[in-house]
Amino acid sequence: MAAYREATPDQAELLDALVAAGHLIPSGVPGVYGRGSDFEKVRLGLDGHVTRVATAAGETPETLRFPPVLPRRQLEDLGYLESFPHLAGTVFAFEGTEAQARAQAERAGGHEDWTEHQCMTDLVLMPAVCYPVYPAVARRGTLPAGGVTIDPGGSYAFRHEPSGDPARLQMFHMRELVRIAEPETVQAWRDGWRDRALELLRGLGLDADFDVASDPFFGRSGRMMAASQREQALKFEILVQIAGPEPTAVASFNYHQDHFSGLYGITTADGQPAHTACLGFGHERIVIALLKTHGLDVSTWPPEVCDALWGVAA
Ligand code: ATP
Ligand code: ZN
Ligand code: MG
Repeated sequence: MAAYREATPDQAELLDALVAAGHLIPSGVPGVYGRGSDFEKVRLGLDGHVTRVATAAGETPETLRFPPVLPRRQLEDLGYLESFPHLAGTVFAFEGTEAQARAQAERAGGHEDWTEHQCMTDLVLMPAVCYPVYPAVARRGTLPAGGVTIDPGGSYAFRHEPSGDPARLQMFHMRELVRIAEPETVQAWRDGWRDRALELLRGLGLDADFDVASDPFFGRSGRMMAASQREQALKFEILVQIAGPEPTAVASFNYHQDHFSGLYGITTADGQPAHTACLGFGHERIVIALLKTHGLDVSTWPPEVCDALWGVAA
């Protein structure tokens, strides 16, 4: 496990406390946990709260849902392997004869290398919840006037970044919203949501701030891409101090310009290339930040936080 990031002492302590309280259920693999009932109650409450805040802001996103796997072809077209080869998870499956199946089972039984007869399938694990939205919207043809807002929900994303930090998971839920429209509309939407999300998270009692950010691009050329992304302020993150030396990103706001619309051919009602932006709330990170802030016993949380999460009639 070359990629494993050791936990700092405070991250290890937080993980132990979350496990002891029954909020996280270890699987034996770092960054992959089951969730206890209170954790899940908070996570689903948060998701509902985001929906209610969107509605209150006059947003009427269209719901679309996708499974947490992506066609491999789409990952290839996106250039994901150029930017994030270290984070991708690909799905392989057995192809071979009965004798090869027996050999494979034997090696697996002894926990030896059994990759020999594994072949790449047409699927990869979902790296970001918004990815299936762009080709789906492109397939419909020209955008309606004013563009579209899509809600792909709070669904699973995978990143191969095994870590002892309970806030850095390999499989986690990302609640996204996606705006596809004219450039100015998309930029204003992204900035509006950055401010609204900051208010939402501070309203839950989190000591949150936003900052310009960059994606974790791979390697030396990646550092240049990250610098250019920062310079153009294409990505913002909302950060909360959870554990470890740096604050953790609990939500991200990304302006892709015409990257996705160029790839899939999305045009606005007046025939111009559409621009796109997305935002992603990291469910587990926010739940852990809330548990750290308000205590591991959810029944003692401040009434206004409970009210926002599950008190109001949905
Ligand atoms: P980081 O800066 O921590 O590496 P990122 O910039 O790669 O995260 P995004 O790609 O913007 O994150 O993902 C959207 C949101 O999903 C993030 O704001 C964060 O809340 C959440 N997220 C990202 N990676 C992880 C992870 N490994 N574990 C848990 N949540 C994550
Ligand atoms: Zn996205
Ligand atoms: Mg980041």
